[in-house]
Amino acid sequence: MRYSKIRKMDISNGPGVRVSVFMQGCTFNCKNCFNPETHDFNEGKEFNDDVIDKIIELCNKDYVVGLSILGGEPMHAKNIDGTTKLAKAFKEKYPDKTIWAWTGFLFDKDLKDKEVMKYIDVLVDGRYKDELHDFRLKWRGSSNQRVIDVQKSLKQNKIVLIEDEELIGV
Ligand code: SF4
Repeated sequence: MRYSKIRKMDISNGPGVRVSVFMQGCTFNCKNCFNPETHDFNEGKEFNDDVIDKIIELCNKDYVVGLSILGGEPMHAKNIDGTTKLAKAFKEKYPDKTIWAWTGFLFDKDLKDKEVMKYIDVLVDGRYKDELHDFRLKWRGSSNQRVIDVQKSLKQNKIVLIEDEELIGV
């Protein structure tokens, strides 16, 4: 699999200062996608163990509160194994830091039984729908997308959302 880029200090994808990784490849082709350069699975750079080690090392700074995983589509069949490996390694090293991830798939329909969900704290799910775009939304582009507390959702066997009011203080 391949990735597009890493941001060492990202303050726009999740709360606080985070390290972000953008995986390469997505087949959803949402209208007005914010990241069209990540669609082609052949572009970008190879994602391997050295890249995982580099990301884990970047997250070691005190001011980094967590890791954000975006795309492209990190949960596509071609990418999910690498995403899982990264998320697992991160949580083993930093159990008190958070992982946020963005996907066009749906948590309840496509992802809740996947191993990677064991390691993710917050999942923003669903395809971006341009006609539902609302700039007031926090951490998501369109109102169909959901900001999900993954660990609570797995425990309670239902989708537990994080509402916009809660997100302001996260
Ligand atoms: S799922 Fe995300 S990366 Fe893929 S086309 Fe939609 S907005 Fe773009």
